[in-house]
Amino acid sequence: MNLNSHIAFALAVGLALFHNIPLAVLVGIGAALPDLDREYIFTRRKIFAKYQLHRALFHNVFVGLAVMYFNFYLGLGMFLHFGLDLLTSPTDRGIELFFPLGRFIRTFKLHYDGKVSKSKGVMWYLEDPATLVNRTADPGLREVERMPWIRIYGPFKNSRLADWTVFYGSFIFIQLYEINNLVSWWEDFLYTAFVRYFLIDVGIVIFYALGELWRRRLQFSQVDAKTKGAILGGMILGLALILIQGATLYSPMPLNGKLMELALLSLILGLVMATLHVRLRFKEIVM
Ligand SMILES: [Zn+2]
Repeated sequence: MNLNSHIAFALAVGLALFHNIPLAVLVGIGAALPDLDREYIFTRRKIFAKYQLHRALFHNVFVGLAVMYFNFYLGLGMFLHFGLDLLTSPTDRGIELFFPLGRFIRTFKLHYDGKVSKSKGVMWYLEDPATLVNRTADPGLREVERMPWIRIYGPFKNSRLADWTVFYGSFIFIQLYEINNLVSWWEDFLYTAFVRYFLIDVGIVIFYALGELWRRRLQFSQVDAKTKGAILGGMILGLALILIQGATLYSPMPLNGKLMELALLSLILGLVMATLHVRLRFKEIVM
């Protein structure tokens, strides 16, 4: 989905849950973070297309949980973003919710048409609908052949009806929800977004504006090194602003340390037991 839909939806949900503008704005900022995994100018498009890190690197439960531990509201915003992207079609590349686990798994090959075959190299293998992706996806998402990992798709296309319904619906919801004090809501909102969280918001705007300019226009035309350097520098500045103010938002969830240690220990021991079990039972290396 588009960034404006993600932010508006997260703001609306944050407002409905917490009745508090600064917290709702934090949820909105969280919803703007996952798409920082877009390739843009930082690496060659071919490399990113090969590994398809967009909608994987920062679109998975592990990064979501880590951010949620760092700051609950930012993390909630990330999960709302995942929820909306889960609704999008293979054309938009769905999301890889359990990245990077899918990239380690090796057992057998499950073809897209349902055939299963053993193979030595890559062992668990579900073919993404590569033909469909290559015919329909954005240029930046195309150059894929077969992908040994699993994305999750939904029925909707980016920038179309569902996307804009989420945006307008969320916007209208916020206005109606605050209809009795709309003026003071806007004052509070603008203050929070552009004064209180000034650095992080400006960082996000710079990063995406320059990134999209590069992705949609400049990368297809002859650009001199100076311009390219300026775009790259601007985007790094944007990232720096996000990180500088982001670091001040640290407020971890109060979790019971002993309980966490116990859970982690059980998980590791469980994994060891399961590995032995599966190895004995199926006589093959299974991850
Ligand atoms: Zn996304």
